[in-house]
Amino acid sequence: MNKQREHSAIALFSGGLDSILAVKWMQQLGYTVHSVFFSTPYLMPDKAIKSAEANDIELIVRDITDEHLKIVQHPKYGYGKNHNPCIDCRALMFQLAGQMLDELGASFIISGEVLGQRPMSQRLQSLMQVSKGSEMKDLIIRPLSQKLLPDSKPILEGWVDKEEMLDLQGRGRTQQMELANRLGIKDYPSPGGGCLLTDVSFTLRLSDLINHWQDNPLQIELLKWGRHFRLSPTLKLIVGRHKDDNLGLDQAAKSLPRMQIKDVPGPLGVLTTLGARQEELSLAASILLSYCNKATEPGMVIYSIDSIESAQIMAHKCSKDSLAQYKISID
Ligand code: SF4
Repeated sequence: MNKQREHSAIALFSGGLDSILAVKWMQQLGYTVHSVFFSTPYLMPDKAIKSAEANDIELIVRDITDEHLKIVQHPKYGYGKNHNPCIDCRALMFQLAGQMLDELGASFIISGEVLGQRPMSQRLQSLMQVSKGSEMKDLIIRPLSQKLLPDSKPILEGWVDKEEMLDLQGRGRTQQMELANRLGIKDYPSPGGGCLLTDVSFTLRLSDLINHWQDNPLQIELLKWGRHFRLSPTLKLIVGRHKDDNLGLDQAAKSLPRMQIKDVPGPLGVLTTLGARQEELSLAASILLSYCNKATEPGMVIYSIDSIESAQIMAHKCSKDSLAQYKISID
């Protein structure tokens, strides 16, 4: 390890190999690095926490749901393949990390971005847009590719020696894996995954929420579980697909009305608002019954609020065509 450096850094840490490499590279050069993970309902910290623990990295987790929702709704630089506003997202993360510099006594911000690795967010132009959009461009260092990038203040001021930075670029992973070997990093997750904004099914559901002005944190949280059915502009039904969905819905939707099939084990149904009309309750009951083989035809569904039974609804199962008409998700 090199001698302790005077200036320390905040790292945007995703838990992936590149961010581990960026942190470890700077640490072995003697920099103190404060690693931060910014979480939202569609970007959970679990993977980053596990990866940080496995690699002996102290991790700060901050929830940025409110700030992030604004850029998901109105990204300045547009979306990637799905609903992922990657350039705006990265810019926001650098900006928020910049706001933590004083708190952590750090001087600059690092990330594991590699020039040319991702089509949307890591081309040179995109990296520069991220830097500019963050309003922190003078303080950003990307250790894995910094030799190939314009100099920022930490280099111009001599806090960081450009010659000690790396020149990785492109989509291949070989160089990163060799570097991981050199740094003794053995435990890292496979690339990809993690952000639900890149998931087609999640994106469909999120677009539906945005189109109906219902993209608040609770409704976004609920997008992670079950099949979703739009019953009216103000009301959705969510039906658990399996035990994990039912448990997740049960936890997340404590304040919302439930539907369960009477006397038969079956999926949990959650209505996304109170005050559903009778015909909406009948439709929801029909949909719920359609996902229970053991349900009788017609079947009885219990509607409850705060665990107190509020109504029993007799309904027939829906036809496949009707289900398709109301269903938002593709799975
Ligand atoms: S994939 Fe998700 S978390 Fe990653 S930069 Fe894009 S929007 Fe942000």
